[in-house]
Amino acid sequence: MGERILLVEDEEKLARMVEMELKYEGYIVEKAFDGRTGLERALSGEFDLILLDIMLPQLSGMEVLRRLRRESQVPVIMLTARDSVMDKVSGLDSGADDYVTKPFAIEELLARIRAALRNQSGPGPGTCLSAGEVSMDVERHQVTVKGTPVELTKKEFDLLRHLLENKGRVLTREALLDAVWGFDFVGETNSVDVYIRFLRGKLDDAFGIKLIHTVRGVGYVIKED
Ligand code: CA
Repeated sequence: MGERILLVEDEEKLARMVEMELKYEGYIVEKAFDGRTGLERALSGEFDLILLDIMLPQLSGMEVLRRLRRESQVPVIMLTARDSVMDKVSGLDSGADDYVTKPFAIEELLARIRAALRNQSGPGPGTCLSAGEVSMDVERHQVTVKGTPVELTKKEFDLLRHLLENKGRVLTREALLDAVWGFDFVGETNSVDVYIRFLRGKLDDAFGIKLIHTVRGVGYVIKED
């Protein structure tokens, strides 16, 4: 406990409310009210997680994220007023770990925070997962197919990792959402399908393998041929 969270949010009333709730949960919280200060503090390396608003004075949240990602893999959850799945996907592809759409329930934010921190701590060093021609070095965040490295976004990586950890077991969309996104958000289970499509494009299609299988009406499973 006592994980340190940086909250970058210019709406002071919202920031105070979130700060109060996070402190109540035992987190140590620091606030920044503009993008420039937020980036400077985020780069200090003192935080376990960053909550980052998109619409900020001085530097936008997306610009803060881009600059932060050059140096740091600290988990970042974006706070956004935007709402469509594709907007979320494009934000996630630029290096955010997760998205929370305003207005959000504090319970949802807390669940996302727990999931992001859990993903961060991960399994022990040197952990390797594999299925057929696909290998994943969890610690180094590397995936190879037939020995060739494959670039995956953070969320694609987390999804593949969860599937590999459960090789041979059929996972429902809800179970994948809960494990990878950290919250059972009703009505958005198609996020899983979107990311499965991304993974298939980069793995199955690109290398002519059959890794991720659809079990109609149930979910997805990774099987070895
Ligand atoms: Ca704002």
